[in-house]
Amino acid sequence: MKYISTRGGGEPQDFEQVLLTGLAPDGGLYVPASLPSFSRDEIAGWSGLPYNELALQVIRPFVADTIAEADLRRCVDESYAGFSHRAVAPLTMLDSNEWTLELFHGPTLAFKDFALQVLGRLLDHVLTRNDQRVAILGATSGDTGSAALEGCRHSERVDIFILHPHQRISEVQRRQMTTVEGDNVHNLAIRGNFDDCQKIVKTAFSNQDFLPAGRQLVAVNSINWARIMVQIAYYFYAAVNLGGPHRPLSFSVPTGNFGDIYAGYLARQMGLPVDQLVVATNRNDILHRFISGNSYQVTDLAPTYSPSMDIMVSSNFERFLYDLFDRDPARLRDFMARSNSESLQVDEAHWQRVRENFSSYAVSDEQTCAMIRQVYDESGVLLDPHTAVGVKAARECRSDPQVPMVTLATAHPVKFADAIKAAGIPTPPLPAHLSDLMERPERCTVLDNSVSAVTGYLSSHLRA
Ligand SMILES: *Cc1c(COP(=O)(O)O)cnc(C)c1O
Repeated sequence: MKYISTRGGGEPQDFEQVLLTGLAPDGGLYVPASLPSFSRDEIAGWSGLPYNELALQVIRPFVADTIAEADLRRCVDESYAGFSHRAVAPLTMLDSNEWTLELFHGPTLAFKDFALQVLGRLLDHVLTRNDQRVAILGATSGDTGSAALEGCRHSERVDIFILHPHQRISEVQRRQMTTVEGDNVHNLAIRGNFDDCQKIVKTAFSNQDFLPAGRQLVAVNSINWARIMVQIAYYFYAAVNLGGPHRPLSFSVPTGNFGDIYAGYLARQMGLPVDQLVVATNRNDILHRFISGNSYQVTDLAPTYSPSMDIMVSSNFERFLYDLFDRDPARLRDFMARSNSESLQVDEAHWQRVRENFSSYAVSDEQTCAMIRQVYDESGVLLDPHTAVGVKAARECRSDPQVPMVTLATAHPVKFADAIKAAGIPTPPLPAHLSDLMERPERCTVLDNSVSAVTGYLSSHLRA
């Protein structure tokens, strides 16, 4: 399988190159040149498979010419063996024909573990084979950093540097990163905000001269194709456990960078009967305004109770737009170039296609807390604020009560105690494997908000 850039530059690449970089050199995102697809019979044959077996079926065609099946199987099996629920991604019933798919049973209690556990192992496999070393550099406003550290810390061949805004993330989130052990693990608290951290990372990627010869940076945010690919599996898993593919089902997805819901869009393109795909946003709602009103306009970012969705420009939306513009890179480049300064529209036919693919709803903080409270009272299930945004949007957008509606439960409620408290519910205890989190020693270096402070730290802390 070959991968091409959405911006049309460069030669097609294989999976290994795509895994080891992140962004394409022309600034675009990698997508498969053509998607694999599965017949109804094949999908039906997966019913009853354990999660790791099903995930292997879904991932294999994307990597087959780079990674041998036995190696892929080991990476996938080891990744999900560490989850604290035997079903890995259990379904919980909220109401008749309404469900959540719990994606928070991994080591850091958010869905990002699904992809980053596998990504870390794939990376280690490829680097060992190549006798190569790399540095991972990423910025986090919360969940990505800890999932990346947990996923990659075991690799002898990786040094990992995660930037977070100093004193601007929750204590649980900070401790989940700063208590990770390993001399290849570096937490850098930047005296600035999340945007400052991201700017530093972008600049470092664009000029990697500070690294020794043969060393390169790897991106682990959701622009890395490997993360999207791994997430496609749980859409199939939910479906075969709810009577698919013989009947369709719908998904509501709490959306920030558009990675998770894009994986659902791909599952549908690959043959899974999906009725509705609901883009659930908080008040940072550029995607909802585009889908519901054909207006794509960047506005100021507002902090909310669902901070992992406090994103204005969703990087992965470019991957969907590329398909929408019939894979014409020139049209995509034009749209992206103008989107920073103008309010954009697409023509009526294209907008209809957007609406055929997605429904959407924007949920306020008040509605989020009310939904946490309501579901708790109705069924005793405690939702985290991101999941509550998803459930609210699902209930607002649902067009056919006969079709099962599944909201992706993206985080464990203990990670977001503020919203739970605001909903008037006592904070739940930390799960057993994290029960001593507040006592563990922390390791973190505070740095000035400057590129040279970070690149200087990096080059002096790489292992030989
Ligand atoms: C990252 C994250 C999201 C948003 O996912 P995207 O793939 O960026 O759309 C939603 N909820 C939680 C808890 C997250 O950590």
